[in-house]
Amino acid sequence: MPTHRLPFRQIHLDFHTSPHIPDVGASFDADEFAAALKNAHVDSVTCFAKCHHGMSYYDTKVGVRHPSLKFDLLGAQIEACHVQGIAVPIYLTVARDNYMAEIHPEWAQVNKDGVPRGAKPFDPGWLYVCLNTAYVDNLEAQTVELLENYEVDGFFYDIVAQPKPGCCCRACLGSMKKLGLDPTNDGDLAEHSRMIIETFMKRFTETIRSRRPDTRIFYNGSVHPGMECKVPHMTHVEIESLPTGGWGYGHFPFFVRYSRKFGVPRIGMTGRFNTSWGDFGGLASVPALAFQCAQMLANGAGCSIGDQLHPRGKLDKAVYETIGEVYAKVEALEPWCRDAAPETQIAVLMLPDAQTGALRTDSEEGAARMLLEMQHQFDILEPAMEFENYELVVIPDKGWPDEHTLERLKHYVADGGRLLLSHQALVSPDGKGFGVHDIGADYVGPADLTPDYFTPLSQVSNGLLDYQYVMYEQSSRVKPRPGTEVLAEASVPYFSRTWDRFCSHRQTPVDRRADYPAAIRSSTTAYIWGPVFRAYQTYGSIAYRRLVENCIEILLPDKLVRTNAPPTAEVTVTKQGSRRIVHIVNYHPNRRGKHVEVIEEVIPLQDVQISLHSKGRPKSVYLAPERKALPHKQSKGRVTCTVPVVKENAVVVFEY
Ligand SMILES: [Zn+2]
Repeated sequence: MPTHRLPFRQIHLDFHTSPHIPDVGASFDADEFAAALKNAHVDSVTCFAKCHHGMSYYDTKVGVRHPSLKFDLLGAQIEACHVQGIAVPIYLTVARDNYMAEIHPEWAQVNKDGVPRGAKPFDPGWLYVCLNTAYVDNLEAQTVELLENYEVDGFFYDIVAQPKPGCCCRACLGSMKKLGLDPTNDGDLAEHSRMIIETFMKRFTETIRSRRPDTRIFYNGSVHPGMECKVPHMTHVEIESLPTGGWGYGHFPFFVRYSRKFGVPRIGMTGRFNTSWGDFGGLASVPALAFQCAQMLANGAGCSIGDQLHPRGKLDKAVYETIGEVYAKVEALEPWCRDAAPETQIAVLMLPDAQTGALRTDSEEGAARMLLEMQHQFDILEPAMEFENYELVVIPDKGWPDEHTLERLKHYVADGGRLLLSHQALVSPDGKGFGVHDIGADYVGPADLTPDYFTPLSQVSNGLLDYQYVMYEQSSRVKPRPGTEVLAEASVPYFSRTWDRFCSHRQTPVDRRADYPAAIRSSTTAYIWGPVFRAYQTYGSIAYRRLVENCIEILLPDKLVRTNAPPTAEVTVTKQGSRRIVHIVNYHPNRRGKHVEVIEEVIPLQDVQISLHSKGRPKSVYLAPERKALPHKQSKGRVTCTVPVVKENAVVVFEY
């Protein structure tokens, strides 16, 4: 489906409703339902065919209609919403189905210890069925029934997942044996899960497309490193990421910068809750949701806000007043956000950890957080993706690529591509050396004493003091080659902290200069000795970010956008044809209690300066959506302007 047809202001209307609830749909009024959505500027609402309890909400011969529902709720929702021009994709739970798991215990997903996956016998919670059983035939029949009886706009299949590392039910053990896979091997179990899930997606997408080729299709659980094989089966991706629901505020910025590399339209999905899904009576503030939606728009994604419908079928007035206020803003900005492509300069390359094979770790997350706070424009890439056209490639802390990627990296550097590495990035698994030769140093091994310290020299001292900053985690020793410039010096403590020799509450203080540097540069590469990205994610020492920022400044002097906005403001650049757009998203949650982070009030930013790298002079610069002209200057290849006030966000448009 082309991007312009993907609705931008969606609701994901959860409706997992216990079979013990006696009056499902009793207060539902179709016209009122659709009008509430319309008034809240909603253009798509995902409604339920079947929930995690295994209950269906329409006239079904295949599924089990909720025992207290007296009419075709889904049909009424679709009909009333279509009258208002609101799309209604259909939700179907997949692996999480309590009804099916109870009546067909032989279909249950089984963990490696032989115990069925999910809630224990006396816990309230979900049970799981395996996608390698006849359960899938039942779900397909339900899909076909929906396609035949309703005007279907799309399908949202939830929990398309097998247990980790893999399911050990009788069916799965049997099929692994047939395929020559070893169920006692975790790698084989994971491969089997991948095959089952891909087969599932392929089958359902073919079933849907053979009947309705223009239907939206999404399989939830698909947005993760290694998702490439899943993308062809979907029309778009929805990044489920409720900041207060366990995902945190770092999840969405990371995954939108990764998943957008697959070239399919994207939706960011948050929730209107105070915590997470199913939080009846919990409600986020307008500034919180406005911030989250502004962040989605700034990254070229549409918006989805999760809600849960009360069992009686009436939408909460307060919820839709809240959402309406947010979606009015989204609607006004839509013309500057649709089909907007990000402009980026930096690639964060996720390479497999030499020991575990993991792609996404605290190192990659820390790198994303740093670059976000530095207001750099970046994407997050897997090795197979094209990194050659980025001005700078960052490989945070770890990773050894396959031979082909290593060759590509060598060519990239030889052709003048710039590289920022830290710690053990590109260090061969035998620990003998770096995989590329232009780093200006030889790898010696892990540092003998931990923690050690760094002192920035003048080239990388911006924002840092003449001080010995601690590196909390074990670093690496390298030996610079002649001609390599040292950017920061390292110092070592008297001794490492052990049971029989320690000093004070924490690390041992500095004793002497180390015989290795803390940061170096060659013509196109900078290297930092410690795991600065992982340590930033863990310890939050601003010194690490400033060291990295100063190294990037050397490698990439033409930063795409410069600003005086604080690091809490996210600044992104997108383009629509010849038009360029700078989004400033003002982020400031706080965490004082034990509960999740809360955004309550907007703390506006004043006089935010923007300096955008620009070859030509723009015809006009203005704030969207109000089209208020901004005075601007063009000089030395940059256009500059000042935004007087930024509340949740500001959108600055440069028309060329
Ligand atoms: Zn199984």
